[in-house]
Amino acid sequence: MKKKIYLDHNATTPVRKEVVEAMLPYYTDIFGNASSVHMFGQEARKAVEDSREQIASFIGAAAEEVIFTSGGTESDNFAIKGTAYEKKNKGNHIITSSIEHPAVLNTCQYLGQNGFKITYLAVDKYGLVDPEDVKKAITKETVLITIMHANNEVGTILPVKEIGKIAKDNEITFHTDAVQSTGKIPINVNELNVDMLSMSGHKVYGPKGIGALFIRKGTRIEQFMHGGHHEFNKRAGTENVPGIAGFAKAVEVLSKDLEKENKKLSLLRDKLWNGLKNTIADISLNGHPTLRLPNTLDVSFNYIESESIILNLDLKGIAVSGGSACASGSTEPSHVLTAMGVEPTCAQGAVRFSLGKDNTGEDIDYVLEVLPPIVKKLRDMSPIHNK
Ligand code: PLP
Repeated sequence: MKKKIYLDHNATTPVRKEVVEAMLPYYTDIFGNASSVHMFGQEARKAVEDSREQIASFIGAAAEEVIFTSGGTESDNFAIKGTAYEKKNKGNHIITSSIEHPAVLNTCQYLGQNGFKITYLAVDKYGLVDPEDVKKAITKETVLITIMHANNEVGTILPVKEIGKIAKDNEITFHTDAVQSTGKIPINVNELNVDMLSMSGHKVYGPKGIGALFIRKGTRIEQFMHGGHHEFNKRAGTENVPGIAGFAKAVEVLSKDLEKENKKLSLLRDKLWNGLKNTIADISLNGHPTLRLPNTLDVSFNYIESESIILNLDLKGIAVSGGSACASGSTEPSHVLTAMGVEPTCAQGAVRFSLGKDNTGEDIDYVLEVLPPIVKKLRDMSPIHNK
């Protein structure tokens, strides 16, 4: 049978069996609308509220500070547009970074086309934002700072706590996109000094189409979806009860042995990096060497294009993703690597390996066996590689 090795957990994760089991009753017997007053509704409501408690305690929040959404993208849109609209009479300036996920970048860009001024902070070669730059960018008009917790491509963990302190001292709302860090490193909203924090179910072995936004008590934000009185009048729409129950179960399971899991993942990740370094010339690590998610390894294979590597690995049963986006036939280096100052010849050959709970040492051995000949073959064909 053909090998199938999944090393793309930052794109999405497999849903745990326990999660599916936790969701099933809410598709069958417990199908009530959580807003109905009768017993069918009450059962569904209990599932929603128990799940809210579970997720809130996982991040050190109070239950009423967690709002369920349809995923990370919606949580980011809600946090950013909701704050911008609520505070438009106070100011029209937003600070973000140049390495955010499109869910944040494109939302800011949209606001930029609609009367807001956006500052996109530069990052250093590791993808770190300097908190001093945040301080310098603040004006009287600044109403929101939104800086991600961990980058989805290179895994760098940003100084959110320090930036949050600056935001607090200046009484500016601070949001962080923690879609990639949730479930990978410990999160406490109080230690991180955040007012809002985005999460997504499908990155933590939960279902797709469910997410949450932490909104600190007292944070002013405009209602996102208009309709009924769901989610404390902040996000209308009948709750996705199976998704919510699944998300909570996923969080419950992973919170049990996060530390052990992290240790295993970082050992595998380092085994992969050391193995690649020892067998392939002209490669470089993208992202911070230590301030990095335990599961993420982004590597530039100079002189070749990531798409070719990905396709060749796929033929061998290995699923990874690229650091560059392919648009209408032309390969554009990723905005993250470009912002980090990675040379185009290196950025174009960037491959992201993102490990997960089921990966083993044998998986890594197999990658180390098949990848060096693939790189050699592609470099032999490359017009920009000196043979
Ligand atoms: N933010 C980050 C950092 C992400 O990595 C992703 C997904 O890859 C998102 C937001 C979007 O989350 P979702 O897929 O749940 O909409």
